[in-house]
Amino acid sequence: MAGWLTGKVTEKIQWNDRLFSLRIQSAFKDFVPGQFVRVALDIEGERVARPYSLVNNPDDDTLEIFFNIVLEGPLSPRLAALEAGDEVFLSEKATGFLIINEVPECRHLWLLATGTGVGPFLSILNSQQAWLRFEKIVLAYSVRDLSELSYRQQISAIEKQHGDQFLFVPFITREEVAGAINKRIPESLEEGSFEQRTGININENDSHVMMCGNSAMISSVTECLEKRGLRKHRRREPGHITIEKYH
Ligand SMILES: Cc1cc2nc3c(=O)[nH]c(=O)nc-3n(C[C@H](O)[C@H](O)[C@H](O)COP(=O)(O)OP(=O)(O)OC[C@H]3O[C@@H](n4cnc5c(N)ncnc54)[C@H](O)[C@@H]3O)c2cc1C
Repeated sequence: MAGWLTGKVTEKIQWNDRLFSLRIQSAFKDFVPGQFVRVALDIEGERVARPYSLVNNPDDDTLEIFFNIVLEGPLSPRLAALEAGDEVFLSEKATGFLIINEVPECRHLWLLATGTGVGPFLSILNSQQAWLRFEKIVLAYSVRDLSELSYRQQISAIEKQHGDQFLFVPFITREEVAGAINKRIPESLEEGSFEQRTGININENDSHVMMCGNSAMISSVTECLEKRGLRKHRRREPGHITIEKYH
């Protein structure tokens, strides 16, 4: 079996009735913003593990994961029930290619997230490297209602720190909220309101698009962008689209 580290929950943040973040202290340190670890608990004699992206900056003392409860799932409801002081297991290494070292040279980085998919992008936005590489970074964060729009303070701090280099576009699909686009990301991209909001557009010369979250958003946006000549990024065949599907 792969090696496991023991971690201790130091803090639980509850964003609404289904959304939580856990801060975890462990010997684990080394990862690249955008990567994920496997988090596990022993449930009825079995070690049950699932991948979770890291939200924190690699320099932080504690790791942080952000997740929602999937009621029928074995692990996420149990993770949500943990309290400070409880133990979890973590894989020894982080992995994943949703990282900017993999992104070819371009001017604009577009980060498109649904729900908890915003987590790895916060880690990227909270590290220096991205700000040194891209002229503009757009974060599109889509949720169903305002109570799901987590990490708002952290996002505001990024806005303050990076000014015009950072464009934050919240999408709230089931509630009209001032300042947010009341549509799903794919629809807004198709009709043009998303890019209008940013003042720049997604094209094959200037842009790289990273997407994280549910597969419906990722597939629809990929289809739309492929019509414009963008293609999935592969190491052997550099492209414009990098994805991580959570479910
Ligand atoms: C590379 C990777 C990174 C991931 N990182 C995160 C993360 O940072 N935060 C996070 O919340 N989830 C993340 N996930 C999903 C996570 O690993 C679990 O699948 C999820 O937390 C549910 O776990 P579970 O054991 O309760 O249910 P599972 O047995 O894993 O899933 C039960 C069912 O729920 C679906 N499902 C999985 N995740 C979700 C979800 N978020 N919302 C609705 N349905 C879902 C599954 O497709 C499956 O049909 C990631 C998945 C992958 C592949």
